[in-house]
Amino acid sequence: MSEKTIPYKIYLEEHEMPRQWYNVRADMKQKPAPLLNPETMQPITLDELSKVFCRELAKQELDDTTAYFDIPEEIWNFYRMYRPAPLVRAYCLEEKLQTPAHIYYKFEGNNTSGSHKLNSAIAQAYYAKKEGLKGVTTETGAGQWGTALSMACSYLDLDCQVYMVKCSYEQKPFRREVMRTYGAQVTPSPSMTTEIGRKINEEFPGTTGSLGCAISEAVEAATSQEGYRYVLGSVLSQVLLHQSIIGLETKAALDKYGVKADMIIGCAGGGSNLGGFVSPFAGEMLRGEADYKLIAVEPSSCPSLTRGKYAYDFCDTGMICPLQKMYTLGSGFIPSSSHSGGLRYHGMSTIVSELYHQGLMEARSVEQTAVFEAAQTFARVEGILPAPESSHAIKVAIDEAMKCKETGESKNIVFCLTGTGYFDMYAYQKFNDGVMGDYIPSDEEICKALAKLPNV
Ligand SMILES: *Cc1c(COP(=O)(O)O)cnc(C)c1O
Repeated sequence: MSEKTIPYKIYLEEHEMPRQWYNVRADMKQKPAPLLNPETMQPITLDELSKVFCRELAKQELDDTTAYFDIPEEIWNFYRMYRPAPLVRAYCLEEKLQTPAHIYYKFEGNNTSGSHKLNSAIAQAYYAKKEGLKGVTTETGAGQWGTALSMACSYLDLDCQVYMVKCSYEQKPFRREVMRTYGAQVTPSPSMTTEIGRKINEEFPGTTGSLGCAISEAVEAATSQEGYRYVLGSVLSQVLLHQSIIGLETKAALDKYGVKADMIIGCAGGGSNLGGFVSPFAGEMLRGEADYKLIAVEPSSCPSLTRGKYAYDFCDTGMICPLQKMYTLGSGFIPSSSHSGGLRYHGMSTIVSELYHQGLMEARSVEQTAVFEAAQTFARVEGILPAPESSHAIKVAIDEAMKCKETGESKNIVFCLTGTGYFDMYAYQKFNDGVMGDYIPSDEEICKALAKLPNV
């Protein structure tokens, strides 16, 4: 197909939006290892998991054989407000880089939460509402998940309690106000309102918190209040299932114009956008139908795939969540606070971990200042101010496009632009002022956290 026939933005028609989510586990011969109950260290049962999560979501979490799940009509209708999301051909970036590569990005920042997180927030809130719950509790790091969940809860008239990692609570006061506008109750974590929060505050006075701490607080809040459940914005297999809409739409848009992707690139925090984005492509690889280069990009300050260990670990600092087998830096690993933005989680989705372990996916770690340079290059030509998280994918997409320039190959590079960075101006300011550093944890630091992995 000739160049010009591919529009700048490939939009699907509304009726072309997927009606089902895709569960890549169904096509994996070697499945991700089962979640373990932290009390018994045995594979967790549906009844046990339903004490923490809504039953329908617990079912999705444990199901590794059903390939497709129908998207309930109510959720599909909510998706229509901001989906299908465009797949953009980055003509201007290609021109700027003078690369023969063709670069495409799936833009997930077109809603108030500013990220892909709303795709799963609405699904999780929907199942909670359907189960007759009063409300949900959660944690948020950079704030996008808390915002997405508060949007979904206000739409469905559910109570929403958010534990926000203290350093972002302080750095991003406006994020907090967006959540409060949607009616959420926002508490900086670690707080004094939960037992685990008081314990963490006592043990680490003055700590600015971490996702692992905030998760523990939110789980405690859910299990100690009647009619509440805990919901999580990443890492879990149910979240990857909901996020498969990103990959399914991307694949449909590429197919519409007969474009075969060579490389699929996504940033990896807990692995939800990456997992959802690559799922349909990984499925084709697993079924032997096609081949792609799948690349996970993580920050060098929190390098779970590239420097972590594949082992059972706790998902939270308080060690009350189910254990999962994943690439991890240890649940006690607290990334340097000088690392801005998200992607600060110590572990990784079990699905992404297993795909990586099987060699279906590569991983790269990139340094913060290089990420912001890529963000700046992108912002100056493509008209979107990218989130720092998303910019990890931009960085590697640009690296790959520059390799094509050397070799003269015209590859199709597709990456996920997970969101916008308007609430990350504190980090952009540091970058613009030239005072942003690159923190890379030492081997000793990583070994110390890994030494505390549970004995399973
Ligand atoms: C949360 C977030 C991420 C990282 O989370 P994953 O679960 O790894 O996808 C990436 N980009 C943006 C904009 C986010 O809000």
